[in-house]
Amino acid sequence: MKFSRRNFLRTTAALTLGAGQVSGKSAALSVEKKNNDLNNPLHDLMERARSYKKIDAHGHLVTPSPVDFIRALDRVGIERSTISIPLGQSPTEFRSSNDLVLAAIKEFPNRLLGQCYVNPLYEKESLEEAKRCLGEGMIGLGELYTQVKINDPIYASLIELCIKERASILVHIRADLGLIRPGHPCDAPHSTSTTEDIVNITRQYPEAIFIHGHVGGGGDWELMCKILRDAPKVYLDTSGSVSDAGMIDYAVKQIGIERLLFATDINLETGIGKIMSADLSEKDRELIFWKNFQSILDIRGIQ
Ligand SMILES: [Zn+2]
Repeated sequence: MKFSRRNFLRTTAALTLGAGQVSGKSAALSVEKKNNDLNNPLHDLMERARSYKKIDAHGHLVTPSPVDFIRALDRVGIERSTISIPLGQSPTEFRSSNDLVLAAIKEFPNRLLGQCYVNPLYEKESLEEAKRCLGEGMIGLGELYTQVKINDPIYASLIELCIKERASILVHIRADLGLIRPGHPCDAPHSTSTTEDIVNITRQYPEAIFIHGHVGGGGDWELMCKILRDAPKVYLDTSGSVSDAGMIDYAVKQIGIERLLFATDINLETGIGKIMSADLSEKDRELIFWKNFQSILDIRGIQ
């Protein structure tokens, strides 16, 4: 069944964290009131979206307290979410980001799944930090950011650790033309990983579990999907602030349903709206919303 994304976003925007910013307090209240009206067709749409079990494969802890984040997840019906805080460059900084994530997953062990952020330029410290975080129950590395491309040999010891630990690796990826073709403008650092970079590293380490961050994260999403079409076992998450019509349908057509993972990258309502508005069967919607990612968690033994 196909849903209207515009209606979905208008309805859910009032229910989540950014309500006041999206449409003003009075508009938000009026939408919320409408949503409580059982005769309003939008009520069914929101309830229907909330009824699906969901695991967010790419989330970030952005609220001052994890309690607020859980409240936001509850409002849109996300049962579990990965979290990371990819902030800080020095070992002291990335350790303190990870400390916040560890505290949150210990407070909400059934709701939050931790990902360990490191800066691989500090090779020894990053490896130590990854061992610490995985040892304390995080599910994998992520979101690995723009300091170094993922196919740089400096990542070798981290990738080998993740293979040994059966832990996934989420990578921030963009497909801006400027990163691929010299001479074109690009606002991302040139050390940002591209889709081709993650495909290359997956060929070198076929047993590793790589997750390509955000199909809507910037750049040419059609190109991303085409490159991934023939790549071995790279998962693609559905997040990113770009939410062009047909993006998820196109991704399904190019790379198949089994490698797509529902994700929000903090855009909770947009992230859900993308999946609800795609032309998917019930079975396929469930695969994207949680089953595909659960199969990755199963490998690490997380129920
Ligand atoms: Zn990212």
